Amino acid sequence: MAILVMKFGGTSVADLDCIHNAALKVKREVDAGWQVAVVVSAMSGETNRLVKLVRDVSTLYDAREYDAIVASGEQVTSGLMALTLQSLGVPARSWQGWQMPMRTDSSHGAARIEGIDTDAMLAKFDEGLHAVCAGFQGVSSDNRIATLGRGGSDTSAVALAAALGAERCDIYTDVDGVYTTDPRLEPDARKIDRIAFEEMLELASQGAKVLQTRSVELAMRYKVPLQVRSSFSDVPGTIVCDEEEIVESNVVTGVAFQREEAKITLQNVSDRPGIAAAIFGPLADANVNVDMIVQNISDDGRTDMTFTVGADDFERAKATIEAARDDIGYEGLVADRDVAKVSVVGIGMRSHTGVAQRMFAALAEEGVNIQVITTSEIKVSVLVQRKYMELAVRSLHAAFGLAEA
Ligand code: ADP
Ligand code: ASP
Ligand code: MG
Repeated sequence: MAILVMKFGGTSVADLDCIHNAALKVKREVDAGWQVAVVVSAMSGETNRLVKLVRDVSTLYDAREYDAIVASGEQVTSGLMALTLQSLGVPARSWQGWQMPMRTDSSHGAARIEGIDTDAMLAKFDEGLHAVCAGFQGVSSDNRIATLGRGGSDTSAVALAAALGAERCDIYTDVDGVYTTDPRLEPDARKIDRIAFEEMLELASQGAKVLQTRSVELAMRYKVPLQVRSSFSDVPGTIVCDEEEIVESNVVTGVAFQREEAKITLQNVSDRPGIAAAIFGPLADANVNVDMIVQNISDDGRTDMTFTVGADDFERAKATIEAARDDIGYEGLVADRDVAKVSVVGIGMRSHTGVAQRMFAALAEEGVNIQVITTSEIKVSVLVQRKYMELAVRSLHAAFGLAEA
């Protein structure tokens, strides 16, 4: 029987009515002949609540206990969804990460899936039972509950679809697809019918939280047909697919943003071979994700090194750099926690020049100052003062004509 993975995010399982609504969608697919594996998130707001409990006990917490606590939200919804399906006459049972098991590495809080044993689930499929899996969680090599990073249920769903050889993975959420930018910020944002894996990957990694980055990576690698669609309507969603399957594309496909960034500048570092390694080595060892990097060398040989990190990593980054001060050798550390990153993404940039120029001109016209610039083959990102982020997103959305079909 053909297997379908259906993932429901937090707002789609926010209360019993929502769970009932989602279960009806599952029943419809079951009635159409699919063998279904449902993946659920925690009820919306629940993971935040659990994270806050952890932080209220300790700021430098044991990540294994953090995982034991925050994974519980998905345990509840998986059971509730299984019960609701049963009440609708759909035979189903819940599966926790450790029960499958979904094996992960031991990077607690941001674990990576290493493999999924599907034998037990497939055997239950043969008995006519549909599966309801707790998203976001697996079991680490040291036999502890591990979570996959915020938004990780998307990744659970895609990984499961790959392991089960599912025909499709449908991500049900509170928007009816992937838009040219977050429709909550720009009401003129337009739904994209088809988007290439690579563009989706770039948008996700630049902040579009509609899909967790790792889920797109897995879908691309294992060729899982992926669809983002609404839990609350039946309109067609967005298909994430190979570039070749897209007939027409704009030079720029979307605008993404990351509100919570922080910038650190090390003033007057010595200009010598190995200086970058002396700075970024300890940061990597401390698991700090460094994003943008600029090195400024003036005529008189003075070198400043600027880099950005996510706001969550800021304290750890600063402490790490201060601890390594003697090895690095710098005059001063200047931190700016009031910055955001805005990116334009599109595979059309490979063959069209002038995107960066258009972007800079549009921002200049609005008086938005650019602090740092980075580019890739299909993306240009700029760092701006946080209060200008929304203005920057809207003006770029307009400048690249994204509201028009
Ligand atoms: P879920 O709980 O279902 O996983 P998320 O909140 O993680 O849902 O992701 C859906 C949200 O992603 C939307 O409500 C929307 O605000 C946001 N979003 C950001 N960028 C985009 C985009 N380009 N297209 C659609 N939604 C986006
Ligand atoms: N519940 C988790 C979170 O809020 C995982 C997810 O929803 O994808 O991050
Ligand atoms: Mg999500």
